[in-house]
Amino acid sequence: MHRLTVLSPAKLNLVLDVVGKRPDGFHELRTIFERISLTDQIILTRNKTNKISIRCAHPHVPRGPGNLAFKAAMMLSKDFSISEGLDINIIKNIPVAAGLAGGSSNAAAVLAGLNRLWQIGLNNAQLVDYAARLGSDVAFFLYNSPYALGTGRGELIKPLKINTKLWHLLVTPRVKMLTKDVFTRLKLKLTNKKDNVNILLPFLRKGDLTGLAGALSNGLEPAILSLRPDFIYIKKKLLDAGAIGVCFSGSGPSVFGLAGSQKHAESLRAKFDRRYTQSFVVSTL
Ligand code: ATP
Repeated sequence: MHRLTVLSPAKLNLVLDVVGKRPDGFHELRTIFERISLTDQIILTRNKTNKISIRCAHPHVPRGPGNLAFKAAMMLSKDFSISEGLDINIIKNIPVAAGLAGGSSNAAAVLAGLNRLWQIGLNNAQLVDYAARLGSDVAFFLYNSPYALGTGRGELIKPLKINTKLWHLLVTPRVKMLTKDVFTRLKLKLTNKKDNVNILLPFLRKGDLTGLAGALSNGLEPAILSLRPDFIYIKKKLLDAGAIGVCFSGSGPSVFGLAGSQKHAESLRAKFDRRYTQSFVVSTL
């Protein structure tokens, strides 16, 4: 095989609880990931040089060693002494630095794709080990599961057998928000913590959208809003437009509105000015 095209989906966090700070400086999380239908496309092409190169038209995506997809390819290339070169062409649809884990998903897609293209023969557990070395959100994308519980830094994954298909309008302001800036702003209150994961799961399993709406939560919201207090307007606007529930995803600034159907999600979309926000009708993938 000379070339392989892989899809690289985004994620939402239906719940994101920050449950503590660890000695290594990372935060301990409990989160429910949802894989969604907003995807980048990655074309992996073998070549006869001995270089790995990245192509991507998006201005905020690094084209060298800072790119997580590049890092993933370098790790495998080194560990398995691959002597040939590789072009990684990333067609970016997922907003960058937006709480949707686009970079992490690209890294996972490259790990799984190169395992096939270079015929390395790693099993899923071995791929997950590589994923954890690349970043907290990478591992989720290696499990072929639309929903999962993430613990640790988010890299310990338990796939969840849930058949509910959700629809959302995803709204992303046209600004980058760096995960580390959000965590720096976080003030942890460790008393009286609710177990938001176990509150949400029964509603998700049953497809009870009203219950689900009330159970969506993101412990990073105060930190996101302390950086950009104006972003509360996105939640308000989605609710005013008729979204069943609203929540920030990851470290923001993307917000998703829960909709009852594709048509409902499309009707919410008209409310947002495309000069300031990008919006996407998405479903569980
Ligand atoms: P997370 O929720 O995992 O922190 P995010 O969705 O907030 O991620 P990403 O889109 O993954 O953010 O990008 C975060 C940073 O990673 C960007 O500022 C970008 O410079 C860098 N980056 C590295 N590789 C990639 C990639 N393949 N695609 C997008 N961004 C990348």
